[in-house]
Amino acid sequence: MTKSSEKPIEKHNLLIIGSGPAGLSAAIYAARAELNPILLTGMTLHGQVSVTDVVENYPGFPEGVSGSELGQLFQTQAERFGAEIVMDQVTSVNLSKQPYIIETYGKKYEVKALIISTGADHRKLGVPGEQSLIGRGVSYCGTCDGWFFKDKDIVVVGGGDSALEEGLFLTRFANSVTIIHRRDELRAGAILQKRAFNNPKIKFIWDTVVTEILGEDSVEAVNLKNVKTGDENVHETEGVFIFISHTPNSALFADYLESDDKGYLVVNKNMETNLPGVFAAGEVADPAFRQIVTSTGMGAAAAIQATHYFESLEEDR
Ligand code: NAP
Repeated sequence: MTKSSEKPIEKHNLLIIGSGPAGLSAAIYAARAELNPILLTGMTLHGQVSVTDVVENYPGFPEGVSGSELGQLFQTQAERFGAEIVMDQVTSVNLSKQPYIIETYGKKYEVKALIISTGADHRKLGVPGEQSLIGRGVSYCGTCDGWFFKDKDIVVVGGGDSALEEGLFLTRFANSVTIIHRRDELRAGAILQKRAFNNPKIKFIWDTVVTEILGEDSVEAVNLKNVKTGDENVHETEGVFIFISHTPNSALFADYLESDDKGYLVVNKNMETNLPGVFAAGEVADPAFRQIVTSTGMGAAAAIQATHYFESLEEDR
């Protein structure tokens, strides 16, 4: 691996980390403000939206739009105004003084300002068998893996929008989808609830948690526990899809930026963090809404505020 000191150094005004709706919206606004932004995509180009089957609640698409298409449209729009999109992954940062240093596997960036839009990752159940059976029946993405479960009986864990949306998508392939929820009331919105209750392939197991995922080479069953009665039973299944919310991707910045007790970066209404010239937008800084439309709004706000930041630097000269 290239040693830090040997890496080529690039100097930029504004670096955006992450290529989801927040990062790409920030890139559109920053490019149009002639800040010449450079955006590092991270491992998942376009973020979570890239693996969303259909987006039905993003304004401007009354018939819905596929997540991958929407992500590509965001990118095309950012590039049209001159944003430089680079497929690279940040490995470390040094925000102890300005200019800020951002390192990837092959490069070192020195930047005056930073917009962090690293999003959030799927939360894990943390039960025995989960980690070892990932890719062998345990999945966090119906759009990516649903096809492998054609005519199989599978379970979905969670009771939010993601669990229901993905559960509904999985009925295209699976013989049956059993949604296991820890309460007797869903968190998901009314439209998704209605669709799920009306789908003959979907069943529910209420007040129940998965305590173990069982199987040698692939998933064979889950151990279930009723949280009200304490009763346990083994439920046979070939697939376990887990949608129990997300964890913000903020670990890289833990030494420098304030975060809340769940790891979400703390920003004010101008998307400013506790450091000058460092902004955060989208799910990494949003414990409340986590919608594509709110992430794009936060990204735009961060870029507008970054523009003001550069204007204030000019005035101070
Ligand atoms: P969420 O809304 O936070 O729901 C997570 C679900 O997982 C909840 O039902 C929760 O149970 C359950 N859960 C959490 N930890 C668990 C554990 N350890 N064991 C068992 N169950 C657990 O997360 P999400 O569904 O991923 O949605 C995230 C955000 O994206 C939300 O704001 C959602 O509205 C949005 N979203 C929107 C759409 C859409 O509009 N079409 C689609 C997908 C996501 P409790 O209910 O008991 O807390």
